[in-house]
Amino acid sequence: MISAPGGRTRLVTLLGDPVDHSLSPRFQNAAFAAARVDGVYVPLRCSDADLPGLLLGIARGGGAGNVTLPHKERAAAVVEVATDAVRHTGACNTFWLEGGRVHGDNTDVAGFLHAAAALAGDAAGARVLLLGAGGAARAALFALLGAGAREVVLLNRTPDRAAALAAALDPGGSRTRVVAGGRSVAGERFDLVVNGTSLGLHGADPLPLDLETLAGCGAALDLVYAPGETRWIRGAREMGVAAADGTEMLLRQGAAAFERWWGRPAPLDAMRSALAGG
Ligand code: NAP
Repeated sequence: MISAPGGRTRLVTLLGDPVDHSLSPRFQNAAFAAARVDGVYVPLRCSDADLPGLLLGIARGGGAGNVTLPHKERAAAVVEVATDAVRHTGACNTFWLEGGRVHGDNTDVAGFLHAAAALAGDAAGARVLLLGAGGAARAALFALLGAGAREVVLLNRTPDRAAALAAALDPGGSRTRVVAGGRSVAGERFDLVVNGTSLGLHGADPLPLDLETLAGCGAALDLVYAPGETRWIRGAREMGVAAADGTEMLLRQGAAAFERWWGRPAPLDAMRSALAGG
């Protein structure tokens, strides 16, 4: 925000329920100030019934925004122009007005790719073990296949969900394999192991994958972020495996959203420092 909101200030909202614990207002408002753009980022708790009207009304009124749980799927159906990422993941987390129409993107896809590349290098040719089959895993699988991963092995508590995900994003099954249970990948070596489950959000959660299974793997990326990092990430690092939690993906999905709203590069350093509490 340049100073106080004025007649030209753009309202950029976070639509979801709940929204009060989100870190996005902190780093987006810091980004707006650093880039000297005239906008204000405000979380807005909204019901399923109110989502279409709010999303379309805010965008047509010159605003823009993010969408979070539980509305990302509904938003994908509401936007008038959807990116490939939205169409293939069935989820939209970013919206804006362009050429008179309301556009939507799923910047979790770009956010994941940037975070994975920062940790483990280019995904092209990589063998990846992906844990989970929910929304985060779906964005990660779409990103990995698009980036040219050689093979993605899917492991989920409910194997049928993983099979459905693989069938949707890799219909020929040429680059995805679904396994049931961590033991079926014991001894295999992966360039990257990704936790796309929600395990790790709470300190008492079991690890998403035994640490022994990580031995010999190139890197471990947790999409979950928690204060002080997750236990799985700390354990991986103690074994000498390069590891990072979901903070970088969070930051990078926000940076991609900033770029959709303002048509200019995001001030990453200011966003990173705001996210770190600096
Ligand atoms: P979701 O759609 O609800 O999916 C949850 C996944 O976790 C499913 O695969 C589920 O398995 C698995 N799971 C849940 N409880 C489990 C348990 N007790 N044991 C084994 N597996 C379990 O959630 P999501 O939207 O994909 O989000 C997953 C995580 O990613 C969340 O922690 C979220 O905060 C994080 N995330 C981070 C970012 C970021 O920017 N860093 C972005 C998006 C999401 P079943 O299929 O068997 O139920």
